Amino acid sequence: MSIVRVEHVYKDYSLGNQTVRALKDITLSFERGVFLAIAGPSGSGKTTLLNLIGCIDTPTSGRIFINDNDVSGRTPDQLAELRNKTIGFVFQTFNLLPVLTAAENVEYPLLQRKDISSHERKERVAKFLAVVGLTKFHDHRPNQLSGGQRQRVAIARALAIHPAIVLADEPTANLDHKTGEEILNLMKQINQSDGTTFIFSTHDKRVIAKADRLVRVEDGEITMLGIRNDANWSIVKHRNSD
Ligand code: ADP
Ligand code: MG
Repeated sequence: MSIVRVEHVYKDYSLGNQTVRALKDITLSFERGVFLAIAGPSGSGKTTLLNLIGCIDTPTSGRIFINDNDVSGRTPDQLAELRNKTIGFVFQTFNLLPVLTAAENVEYPLLQRKDISSHERKERVAKFLAVVGLTKFHDHRPNQLSGGQRQRVAIARALAIHPAIVLADEPTANLDHKTGEEILNLMKQINQSDGTTFIFSTHDKRVIAKADRLVRVEDGEITMLGIRNDANWSIVKHRNSD
């Protein structure tokens, strides 16, 4: 069973009276537990693809399946419900709420979940702040934390819903190399210890090097799919060799 399946997806944006084709005929599938990089230059369609997989946006045509369920025809409310239970998000600019403490930021998405008691919420907040190494900083507001610490809070927030998938859009782009590497290592460690699926976009070679699956996009099209075995990539699809 694949956790994500994308079939012949196109995405067009209208900009004034022009149409921008951001994705062209994307077909992909990944199994649970992958640590997958979506790589490509700026404007290639990485964020658009992540937003479609994350059910933040819907394709112009084609189908998207999450856990083998077709999400293409769902209403905005149904998609919000699916997101709240299944998908954790991490963003380039962290997207923490500035007036909330680290602990309150982690708790925030859980407040929308009627199925989680306040006791369970507190437990999850404490657990995931510990996972990202920020127990001592639970009362700090974002402006009292470094960039790397802010991204750790965002990772704890993403994990607190017990997501099947964490989507991270250029999670290291606003961090220095060393901090970015620490964040990637933390994500990888969580991926390996509990099998959470991570899908992240990047244009940084060092970040790509940490992935075990690679999707390369250029001008809205897939130009390469790769699977790592040991230190080498085996290419499973390449545009020029189709
Ligand atoms: P990346 O994340 O790889 O930089 P994006 O997915 O953001 O690429 O963008 C892909 C293409 O779609 C670009 O040409 C971009 O300008 C265009 N685009 C993205 N979002 C919108 C939007 N909301 N309206 C119009 N065009 C957009
Ligand atoms: Mg982007």
